[in-house]
Amino acid sequence: MTVGRSGQKTGREALLEVKDLKKHFPIYKGVFSRVSGQVYAVDGVSFEIGRGETLGLVGESGCGKSTVGRTLLRLLEPTDGTIRMGGEDITHLDREGLLPYRRRMQMIYQDPYASLNPRMSAGEIVGEPLIIHDVGTPQERRDKVAALFERVGLRPEAMLNYPHEFSGGQRQRIGIARALALSPDLIVGDEPVSALDVSIQAQIINLLMDLQDEFKLSYLFVAHDLAVVEHISHRVAVMYLGRIVEMTDKQSLFEMPLHPYTEALLSAVPIPKSAARARKRVILKGDVPSPINPPSGCHFHARCPYAMPRCRTDVPALREVKPGHWASCHLHDGGVTFPLAAA
Ligand code: SF4
Repeated sequence: MTVGRSGQKTGREALLEVKDLKKHFPIYKGVFSRVSGQVYAVDGVSFEIGRGETLGLVGESGCGKSTVGRTLLRLLEPTDGTIRMGGEDITHLDREGLLPYRRRMQMIYQDPYASLNPRMSAGEIVGEPLIIHDVGTPQERRDKVAALFERVGLRPEAMLNYPHEFSGGQRQRIGIARALALSPDLIVGDEPVSALDVSIQAQIINLLMDLQDEFKLSYLFVAHDLAVVEHISHRVAVMYLGRIVEMTDKQSLFEMPLHPYTEALLSAVPIPKSAARARKRVILKGDVPSPINPPSGCHFHARCPYAMPRCRTDVPALREVKPGHWASCHLHDGGVTFPLAAA
């Protein structure tokens, strides 16, 4: 199901379907490099993104949200699960088979400076994907790059400049132009505004929203800043220690969270015009546990103010508690009333 930014149903068809996606990183030890354990970075994540839809993916650092983005683009090989793009299973495609899908799925990185090659001019950076995918003649490529520069708010003459000659916001515009070069359907933004000043963040977010309307782009927007996510997303998924613990349209999430972790996240952030402001502050105990040896049962049980004995042993399933509102918490197994803040 897909919904508009204000929460209304749009009936968009799914562009991307991710089912039970896992990405575990082996830990090697000793002179024989034996596998001594696993980092359970992403541990069974499922979601859909509709055409022209933005799914915000939020959580504390280390929860696996960036790994989800990289794995679904096949920049990392998935350990298990399936990734379908436009109905086609791309999970196990080889390099050649993946090529047409690489054109349709692009990424915008957090650090615009680190993600741009300092030895290439801005024009060469934006035009590089066109060369790699053998699109157009040299003149057509130059024209396309100039048009992209204008579309993202840069002067076409700046194509000759190098990354260090741009400000942080301008560098992110170059990153966006590069991501747009191949006319993708889906863009994964990995904390794309986190490194920018607040005033510049707003400009980049507005640019991304305008581009979405113009090109019918779908976004997976990975972020830890809930205010930014609330602004840009249609739906939001909350991750904790490699799993999605809640997912719904943004209005339901911000006004009536169903998972104690979401409630704690919202209570810690002042969000204007949100019912979350009126909620009592929930202070979480301790740090996020290690994904190397995550807690049994519900991963959140050691920090949860509502934990029950069964939370230590039983993994809560991600259930549709209300239409379109998914949560994985035993509080909702037996019809416990919500919102939790009233408990
Ligand atoms: Fe808290 Fe238990 Fe719900 Fe986990 S399943 S969030 S520990 S109440």
